[in-house]
Amino acid sequence: MSSGKSLRAADSTIQKIKAFPCQLSPECVIAFPMPGLFCTRGVTEGLHRGPETVWKRLKELLPGSRVICLNQVHADQIVRAEDVPDQTFPEADGVISMDPSVVLCVRTADCIPVLMWADDKPMIAAVHAGWRGLALKIIPKAIGLMKKRGSLQIHVGMGPSIGPCCYAVGHDVIDALHTEPERLVQGRSFVDLHRVARLQALGAGIDPEHIHQVQTCTCCTQGSFFSYRRDGESTGRNISVIGGNACSLPGLQVP
Ligand SMILES: [Zn+2]
Repeated sequence: MSSGKSLRAADSTIQKIKAFPCQLSPECVIAFPMPGLFCTRGVTEGLHRGPETVWKRLKELLPGSRVICLNQVHADQIVRAEDVPDQTFPEADGVISMDPSVVLCVRTADCIPVLMWADDKPMIAAVHAGWRGLALKIIPKAIGLMKKRGSLQIHVGMGPSIGPCCYAVGHDVIDALHTEPERLVQGRSFVDLHRVARLQALGAGIDPEHIHQVQTCTCCTQGSFFSYRRDGESTGRNISVIGGNACSLPGLQVP
């Protein structure tokens, strides 16, 4: 097991959230000093958005890696990597691995990609959290499962998703999230999913210093990210990956 080393923050002097240039995604790939990335649209441009196609692409980019992609359904099922047979795509919105050599992937197009890792255990997780997942508390659920498996020092990284600038929703969503609108414009209510997610992570006992958020709005950044709200169901998927040699995606230049 490649364990501890790759899981620790590389250097505390490195800014926690940084955008690095990448040949695949010239604008940026957003990376933490962690074995995970929130990738811009270049990585999956032109591909079908389904899990199998994305899985094949990642296998090409990261040869030799075990890669897990989920058949995401906006629910709260979280699977264990060791229970997922190779080249299968379980119906789930989260996956946890005690083996950080496995590459875990989530696909999003406005929902929040959440990548988690631990300082005290070789453990990683990837979670897909839209409003339905947040309403079902999938982030606290994943944190609870990581704690149950022995980790107390958990980091939660949240990637680009639709921002309060663009996320106008109905009362059903506001009620389900138990939140207040961030702002009201001409009778429309705008919600901040990142704030909801952050509060849920804090409520689950995560140290505020261990919550790392990229506030980029997918809907405002057409050149960089896919957005369901902006482009509809047929849009592509942004991918976020953690574990294994995910950080060695071709062209990524991490100093
Ligand atoms: Zn926006």
